[in-house]
Amino acid sequence: MSTLHETSPVHFSDPLEAETDVVVIGGGIIGVCSAYYLACLGQRVMLCEKGVIAGEQSSRNWGWVRQHGRDEAELPIMMESIRLWQGMAEEIGEDVGFRQNGVLYLASTKEKLDRREAWIELAKQYQLHSKLLNASEVASVTGTPEGQWCGGVQTDSDGRAEPWIAVPAIARAATRLGVKIKEHCAVRNIEVTNNSVSGVITEHGTVKCSRLVLAGGAWSSLFAGNMGVYLPQLCVRSTVVKTTQTKNFYSGNAADENFAFRRREDNSYSLALTDRIEHLIGPNTFKFFKPFMPAMKMDWNQYRIAPAMPTGFPDAWQTKRQWASDAVSPFEKMRVLNPAPNVKSATRVMKFAQQRLPGLKDSSVAQSWAGMIDSMPDIVPVIDSIDSADETGLAGLTIATGFSGHGFGIGPAAGKIVADLVYGRSVPYDLDRFRLSRFTDNSPIKLGPVF
Ligand SMILES: Cc1cc2nc3c(=O)[nH]c(=O)nc-3n(C[C@H](O)[C@H](O)[C@H](O)COP(=O)(O)OP(=O)(O)OC[C@H]3O[C@@H](n4cnc5c(N)ncnc54)[C@H](O)[C@@H]3O)c2cc1C
Repeated sequence: MSTLHETSPVHFSDPLEAETDVVVIGGGIIGVCSAYYLACLGQRVMLCEKGVIAGEQSSRNWGWVRQHGRDEAELPIMMESIRLWQGMAEEIGEDVGFRQNGVLYLASTKEKLDRREAWIELAKQYQLHSKLLNASEVASVTGTPEGQWCGGVQTDSDGRAEPWIAVPAIARAATRLGVKIKEHCAVRNIEVTNNSVSGVITEHGTVKCSRLVLAGGAWSSLFAGNMGVYLPQLCVRSTVVKTTQTKNFYSGNAADENFAFRRREDNSYSLALTDRIEHLIGPNTFKFFKPFMPAMKMDWNQYRIAPAMPTGFPDAWQTKRQWASDAVSPFEKMRVLNPAPNVKSATRVMKFAQQRLPGLKDSSVAQSWAGMIDSMPDIVPVIDSIDSADETGLAGLTIATGFSGHGFGIGPAAGKIVADLVYGRSVPYDLDRFRLSRFTDNSPIKLGPVF
């Protein structure tokens, strides 16, 4: 993967429609899958992406597609997503790199292993098979000497896909079903008539529509705020390393308390820290401090505070919070959110990997990049439609955002749910956990699991 940035070429340049059924804001995995499944329901869809398809988190992630360690409300949705990933290549006629080669959560201490084991009981209730591995089984599976980990929990039906291949491939499939996609097309504002969405105003003109999906990733809170919608979302930076090419000693996906590793199709490994949450301070750090307190308390020793969000980032001090429809918005000022990787994190993760994985002894960092993860206070997303009774006066708006570091794997099923919501079909899941109003109706913050 070479990281996408401001000057990355445009591949999707359909003309802006004057009128359509649904506009989707954002060309990450969530927006693209929503558009795809809306088209499957026969809807006319225009997807507007301010930068390029999968330019941000959706191409920078590890690609894990995991049921393991999910919030209970997400689990049935994630199980459906696995089913969709299994059939994706055949359905769209392009490979997406999906391989069901398991996810393994390793434990260095007995106490940690006991906590990991608790997951197996929840999995059983959903007929999902996760199994406990002892120290020698872990050593044999990961190709490492015995004694580094006292055990682990493996879910064989989990796996990974290649994000930078999968998302553009699904976008191409969507266009074959009639979806119009325009890159370098920021949506600035929503047009409202009689308390309902009646269109969007983009940097290239207006598109009339009565239904709208906001799938703006790290930018969603900023967009919503301009429309008077309270969406408490903060961003954390995560750095990923790609190693130099090396022999295959483990083909799955594993993580312990310090770092995660996975084999890549290009004969190298991806590595990332699991013990660092790197928050870049901005006005929202203070604005959303209260709802984020429980999450911060839980992982306090993992937080690393960086001085300030760089200029142009969604929550930079200089970023405007309000703008008019005819003014250049913050979205078009930064086409691709491309944070610099943290060099210290890259060095640290390489060190962990070389200490614990003999197969990487002679490897080094070939490439590193970073992504800004959009996080919610309770570590689960918002998937919700605003109806005519809502005081925001934005009936017709569906929000799907804040996937909190685990939105890639669940993307296809989340997109299908969004399509059903927008189309007005009943959804076969309880979405109460994902409602937007949980942040304003005095509900206590119920934290999702952190693995
Ligand atoms: C390093 C890292 C590792 C991760 N690992 C995993 C993993 O292994 N498994 C997993 O499931 N998840 C993982 N994630 C999380 C996952 O990548 C995200 O949850 C997911 O990609 C979110 O997708 P999205 O479509 O919501 O947002 P994004 O991918 O951020 O897409 C949002 C898009 O909206 C566009 N946009 C925003 N505002 C506007 C506007 N006004 N007009 C037009 N366009 C707009 C943006 O340009 C952007 O392209 C990881 C994330 C990172 C950063």
